[in-house]
Amino acid sequence: MTDTQTCAEDGCERVGAVRLHIPWADERVVCTAHARALVQQEGVVAEPLDGADWE
Ligand SMILES: [Zn+2]
Repeated sequence: MTDTQTCAEDGCERVGAVRLHIPWADERVVCTAHARALVQQEGVVAEPLDGADWE
Protein backbone atom coordinates (compact mmCIF):
# COMPACT_ATOMS: atom_id res chain seq x y z
CA MET A 1 0.00 0.00 0.00
CA THR A 2 1.32 3.39 -0.92
CA ASP A 3 -1.75 5.41 -0.10
CA THR A 4 -1.22 7.81 2.73
CA GLN A 5 -4.32 8.43 4.74
CA THR A 6 -4.91 11.39 6.90
CA CYS A 7 -6.36 11.24 10.37
CA ALA A 8 -10.11 10.66 10.38
CA GLU A 9 -10.76 13.12 13.20
CA ASP A 10 -12.34 16.41 12.23
CA GLY A 11 -9.85 19.18 11.68
CA CYS A 12 -6.83 16.94 12.02
CA GLU A 13 -4.49 16.76 9.05
CA ARG A 14 -1.78 14.59 10.52
CA VAL A 15 -0.91 11.34 8.81
CA GLY A 16 -3.03 8.39 9.83
CA ALA A 17 -0.85 5.77 11.50
CA VAL A 18 -3.14 3.60 13.56
CA ARG A 19 -6.34 1.77 12.65
CA LEU A 20 -8.85 1.83 15.47
CA HIS A 21 -11.45 -0.88 15.90
CA ILE A 22 -14.33 0.74 17.72
CA PRO A 23 -17.22 -1.42 18.97
CA TRP A 24 -19.80 1.32 18.59
CA ALA A 25 -18.58 2.88 15.34
CA ASP A 26 -16.87 2.10 12.06
CA GLU A 27 -13.18 1.44 12.20
CA ARG A 28 -11.10 4.45 11.31
CA VAL A 29 -7.50 5.43 10.71
CA VAL A 30 -6.19 8.18 12.92
CA CYS A 31 -2.88 9.78 13.80
CA THR A 32 -0.93 8.53 16.78
CA ALA A 33 -2.01 11.46 18.93
CA HIS A 34 -5.69 10.75 18.44
CA ALA A 35 -5.14 7.02 18.74
CA ARG A 36 -3.51 7.42 22.13
CA ALA A 37 -6.51 9.36 23.37
CA LEU A 38 -9.19 7.17 21.82
CA VAL A 39 -7.67 3.83 22.73
CA GLN A 40 -8.18 4.63 26.40
CA GLN A 41 -11.90 4.16 25.90
CA GLU A 42 -13.07 0.71 26.84
CA GLY A 43 -13.27 -1.75 23.98
CA VAL A 44 -11.24 0.24 21.48
CA VAL A 45 -8.42 -1.72 19.87
CA ALA A 46 -5.52 0.00 18.10
CA GLU A 47 -3.79 -1.68 15.19
CA PRO A 48 -0.65 0.12 14.05
CA LEU A 49 -0.24 0.43 10.31
CA ASP A 50 3.05 -0.43 8.66
CA GLY A 51 5.78 1.92 9.72
CA ALA A 52 3.80 3.51 12.49
CA ASP A 53 5.73 4.75 15.46
CA TRP A 54 3.49 3.16 18.04
CA GLU A 55 4.42 1.40 21.22
ZN1 LIG B 1 -5.50 13.16 14.50
